[in-house]
Amino acid sequence: MPKTALITGITGQDGAYLARHLLNQGYVVWGAARRSSQDSMWRLRELKVFEDIRFIDFDLMEMSNIIMGIKSIEPDEVYNLAAQSFVATSFQQPIYTSHVNTIGVIHILEAIRTINPRIKFYQASTSEMFGNNGDTFQNELSVFQPASPYAVSKLYSHWMSVNYRTAHGIFACSGILFNHESPLRGLEFVTRKITRSFAQMKTNKAAYLELGNLDARRDWGHAEDYTKGMYLMMQHPHSDDYVLSTGNDHSVREFVTNAAAVCGWMPKWMGDNMDEVCIDEITGRELVKINPELFRPVDVEFLRGDATKARNVLAWETQWSFEGLVVEMMEADLRRAY
Ligand code: NAP
Ligand code: GDP
Repeated sequence: MPKTALITGITGQDGAYLARHLLNQGYVVWGAARRSSQDSMWRLRELKVFEDIRFIDFDLMEMSNIIMGIKSIEPDEVYNLAAQSFVATSFQQPIYTSHVNTIGVIHILEAIRTINPRIKFYQASTSEMFGNNGDTFQNELSVFQPASPYAVSKLYSHWMSVNYRTAHGIFACSGILFNHESPLRGLEFVTRKITRSFAQMKTNKAAYLELGNLDARRDWGHAEDYTKGMYLMMQHPHSDDYVLSTGNDHSVREFVTNAAAVCGWMPKWMGDNMDEVCIDEITGRELVKINPELFRPVDVEFLRGDATKARNVLAWETQWSFEGLVVEMMEADLRRAY
């Protein structure tokens, strides 16, 4: 009998890569997706998995569709990837973010507990929960110091997952994932904003790119590697919490520099603070300017993970380098822009 998985957030970046991986493992994959007036299935089409997925209508805020979905599908594993996932929006919409990212998660946990407590559960937790905790490497034992409504809401659901494991014996894993990107990343996140804008600039559909905090440092990995890690957590005999990260950090400025080079520009940084710009040394064209409005009320300046536990216990490995990730994202957007 093939295993059955239910993925919430199937239309997002991770949903697409996870669906492809589980289908390759022989799973029957159900995607939980909310109704949309726009084409929210483009990622699944790009990975050529759309036709192989069965769908149910689903909103995290509607417990009835979660109960009906779990009862009718009888999944072996539920991967909860759905969330209001953008930090900047969480400052503008803290109440909505909190509802979806906290109550939505207990809706699923309660449905599992009452319908079939043997269903395995994966919660998409985040390195944002560490905030500015000062650690040079963050692992499963590091102090949480969330710095945004998004991070606070995710911390709640992390502890709820731990609680359902310890109190009710549910197989609940919390994957504390550092930033992971791909050509399927949402346009609002800084990596994809950079690659998409540069591609538009190459075809003169945009003049220049505006960014906020260039000094922020992230441990950027590839979503393909990270979704394989989610699967490995759910195959281990015991449920637990795991950090997934590359162990390397880079600044937003470095991401820009690498992406610009793929475009054939010779990036040069000039000026300070709000007057800093990046130009193409060959043509003198201004590539990047600072927009003060793109700074957040509080930012997480530095995130770098230590995934020793996942590597040792799950034999999790990463295939992608930072440089390879930037090239893949930049080339994909250059192809799309033409
Ligand atoms: P994403 O591309 O933003 O996808 C989010 C998904 O959640 C979309 O499918 C979206 O559906 C769905 N969703 C949002 N609100 C919903 C609701 N009320 N009911 C049902 N579905 C809803 O995010 P991602 O990058 O794939 O990340 C997957 C998960 O991992 C998220 O929970 C995120 O917070 C977490 N995470 C991501 C990273 C990262 O670097 N990518 C790092 C750590 C943790 P629509 O298409 O309808 O909007
Ligand atoms: P996050 O780590 O989940 O918040 O992922 P993002 O990709 O949204 O942001 C990563 C870092 O890039 C944060 O420190 C942002 O402040 C910084 N950043 C600088 N300029 C921008 C921008 O224009 N958009 C976004 N999304 N982030 C930016």
